[in-house]
Amino acid sequence: MHDLTEGVRRFKRDIFPPRAELFAHLAGHHRPATLFIGCSDARVVPELICASEPGELFVIRTAGNLVPAHTPVRADGVAASIEYAVAVLGVSGIVVCGHSACGAMTALAEGHDLTGTPAVADWLRHADTARARAATPSTGGTDPVDALIRTNVFTQLANLATHPSVARGLAAGTVTLHGWVYDIATGGVEELDPATGRGNALAA
Ligand code: ZN
Repeated sequence: MHDLTEGVRRFKRDIFPPRAELFAHLAGHHRPATLFIGCSDARVVPELICASEPGELFVIRTAGNLVPAHTPVRADGVAASIEYAVAVLGVSGIVVCGHSACGAMTALAEGHDLTGTPAVADWLRHADTARARAATPSTGGTDPVDALIRTNVFTQLANLATHPSVARGLAAGTVTLHGWVYDIATGGVEELDPATGRGNALAA
C-alpha cells in the first residue's frame, strides 16, 4: 500500500495540476466516446495503450476480457455497465481487446486444472464457444494460446451483440464494434478482420 499512497501523492502534486481545467470540466460532464472492454490483467492498461485522457474511455475489465451473453433472467455488473455506456452515455464505438500471454486463455488452451479456483472455472465458461472454434482444423498451425486469444475476441464481440442496447445501436448504425489484440512485449495493437480472422496493425 505504501506504493499506492506515494502514487496518490505524486498524482496530486505532478499529474493533476496541469490537467486541473480538464478535471473541472469532467466534474460536470461524462460523455466518453468509446466503451473499452479489456482483460483485468495488470499489464494491459487501456488509457495507456490508447494514450487517452480521463473522460474518453468507459472501461470494463474482466478476467479474459469476457462478456457474458445477454440473459433475460438476471443482469450482472458487466451487462449493466454495457447498457449504461450505450443507452445512457451514448458511446459510438466498442472495443473488445484481447492480449498476448493472457492467463485466462492460457489456462483454457492448455487445459489447466481449475478445481482449486471454482469461480474462475465457472467464469471461463463464457469462452466455451471460442474454445470450440479455436479447436477446429482451420486454426491449425498457429500457437493454440494465440489462436484462442484471437478467437475469443470474436466470440466476445458476438456475445456483446446479444445485449439489447448494443443490438439497437448496431441496427441504427450508431454503434460500431472492434476486435483488438494487444501485444505486451512490443506494444503493438492489431485490429482483427471479422471476414478473414486475421489481424492488421492498427498503427504501423
Ligand atoms: Zn488476460
